[in-house]
Amino acid sequence: MKLGALEAGGTKMVCAIGDESGKIFEQISIPTTKPEETMPPIIEYFKDKDIEALGVACFGPVDLDKSSDTYGYITSTPKIPWQNYDIVGTLKEALGCPVGFDTDVNGSLLGEATYGQAKGLTDAVYFTIGTGVGAGVMTNGKMLHGMMHPEFGHIRLVVRDDDPYKEGHCPFHGACLEGMAAGPAIEARWGAKGKELADRDEVWDLEAYYIAQACATSVFVLSPQMIILGGGVMHQEQLFPLVRKYTKELIAGYIKTKQMEDLEHYIVPASLNDDQGIMGCLKLALDAKNE
Ligand code: ADP
Ligand code: ZN
Repeated sequence: MKLGALEAGGTKMVCAIGDESGKIFEQISIPTTKPEETMPPIIEYFKDKDIEALGVACFGPVDLDKSSDTYGYITSTPKIPWQNYDIVGTLKEALGCPVGFDTDVNGSLLGEATYGQAKGLTDAVYFTIGTGVGAGVMTNGKMLHGMMHPEFGHIRLVVRDDDPYKEGHCPFHGACLEGMAAGPAIEARWGAKGKELADRDEVWDLEAYYIAQACATSVFVLSPQMIILGGGVMHQEQLFPLVRKYTKELIAGYIKTKQMEDLEHYIVPASLNDDQGIMGCLKLALDAKNE
């Protein structure tokens, strides 16, 4: 079965063709500028490919409520040209096939839950720590949407005394998770990009302390069977042992499960070579086709 996948990110749009087994046959990338520029080449790419359905995992906030007049829209994004943009409607009309839709982070989690290391689990969380911070949440085998979708990147954190950038970087909340731990916050705090700070221990110790607060919160609130950490910042692999250490400290022995005894297999990096997002889109397409 030929399926289309669109991972709609704030910097680039990845378009791919694949099948229901998660196999990707081909893919291209188009820069995200404004809809008038970005959408025509996307439509052009999919148009003659004879796909049976398309799955879209999109930066947000987005409207996932099928009973809403603005279902399938990108809503209050800070990326002005995309505010209130009907991405699903536009693609459906142009391609004439079913279109599945979810957030970018739910897409990545869906990829891991269908084809990757979270296969067989019913409850898991996928954090992406990149230009922003977001989390996809699966509960009882379903992606959590609720009223809208979770915005885990904007939880408040306990700010550490030795943080030279206590005010944080989020225009809405200052010192929320995204405001403290996303790539731009690291850059604002230390005056250089994360990549250039690889050997500065204090950078990653503080970063891990903040990410661990999100991990501990997700353990207490959602009881996931696995926490997956992805996104550009998590390429700093030294973060993983530090995040596990601080998460353990924050849980403070209160939760006693086999997973808590084995955090190395509980708080883990993404497993699909950065294809988890696009593979999640294939699953969204498959589900849309079968709906
Ligand atoms: P996006 O979130 O835009 O989809 P990424 O997940 O790649 O893309 O995140 C980009 C952010 O991650 C940037 O702020 C960048 O500085 C940071 N980043 C990318 N690679 C690394 C790295 N190897 N080490 C630390 N930070 C990184
Ligand atoms: Zn915020």
